[in-house]
Amino acid sequence: MHLEKRILVTGGAGFLGSHLCERLLSEGAHVICVDNFFTGARSNLDSLSGHPRLEIIRHDICQPLFLEIDEIYNLACPASPIHYQRDPVQTTKTNVLGAINMLGLAKRTGAKILQASTSEVYGDPHVHPQPEGYWGHVNPIGPRSCYDEGKRCAETLFFDYRRQHNLQVKIARIFNTYGPRMHPNDGRVVSNFIIQALTGRDLTIFGEGQQTRSFCYVDDLVDGFVRLMGTPPEFTGPLNLGNPVESTIREIAEKIIALTGSSSKIIFMPLPTDDPRQRRPDISMATEVLGWRPSVDLETGLVRTIAYFDALLARQRGQEIPTLPTHAASRRGKLRTPRDLKRAV
Ligand code: NAD
Ligand code: UDP
Repeated sequence: MHLEKRILVTGGAGFLGSHLCERLLSEGAHVICVDNFFTGARSNLDSLSGHPRLEIIRHDICQPLFLEIDEIYNLACPASPIHYQRDPVQTTKTNVLGAINMLGLAKRTGAKILQASTSEVYGDPHVHPQPEGYWGHVNPIGPRSCYDEGKRCAETLFFDYRRQHNLQVKIARIFNTYGPRMHPNDGRVVSNFIIQALTGRDLTIFGEGQQTRSFCYVDDLVDGFVRLMGTPPEFTGPLNLGNPVESTIREIAEKIIALTGSSSKIIFMPLPTDDPRQRRPDISMATEVLGWRPSVDLETGLVRTIAYFDALLARQRGQEIPTLPTHAASRRGKLRTPRDLKRAV
């Protein structure tokens, strides 16, 4: 008989998911990690290997899942633009069919369910900083739409399941988060710049580097998740989780060069389509409802992340860092190294 809380983490072998599994296990929960290993890896859970309260299941959430659980954190979905744009139809399916399957599971078991939504629901925002009441400015037919509209549809489903079936739902709108275990080849700005700086390559700024983002360290974000799950049933969100300190991408590049002591140069490349110009969360609701605000400043977080990538590169020197598996290869448990993803490292 399981006396401890049984918690399902979909996408539990990914960047955020693996940190969340660690945190939940440290609090005594029984954790079931479900992942199809599209962008995640078992190695992200190495520190938990053999843990008696951790189960790892290879499963694609686009298929129904039958488990007995008390809570669900629905994180499964590739998060970086090059990963979610690689198979956009699968990205929409993961967001929509995956949400329906996990909501169905919550309905059958009476579990509370938290959705990892995103600041991308605000698109290229016309309101700054972005409060939860802002409906966004999103292109429905662009290369980012599979992710942005998929996440928006998932939010719709969460609220309809609540209205129609009285489910306990929670929605976190996550802003850019970074830290150890980001995929080294995912093309996100922090991991790209750190690897470029550590390997002496040029740092690739897209556009002029005047676009802004607000970067949250992973431990702060995970703390926000757990607090949100613990809110009373009537609180649903959506709730912004992110660090409100805003930086230009150029500032990030310069800071990473300084912190690594690298002799890399900065080069400028074309800005991707629909790249948002500015992004900063209004976190007043999170502060009021959860008593939450980020505690790790950018420099501290970057130093920890640089140390992680430095160790990773030292281990992998001489070997190729795995690039993105295709969904089919992922299902077979094999990796492929597509030419279009041979970049960054
Ligand atoms: P990640 O790519 O490292 O993790 C996603 C995980 O989901 C991976 O382990 C992947 O293998 C798994 N996955 C993908 N599709 C799946 C499917 N169909 N079935 C089962 N597993 C599947 O990304 P992350 O940064 O850890 O992001 C986690 C969640 O948080 C995502 O939903 C993402 O949209 C959201 N989010 C992240 C950020 C961020 O800055 N990291 C920002 C906003 C939102
Ligand atoms: N970016 C960049 N160089 C890179 C990778 C990203 O200038 O090597 C920019 C990107 O165009 C965007 C910002 O950094 O303006 C953040 O990109 P990321 O993919 O990390 O997150 P998102 O765009 O989803 O917020």
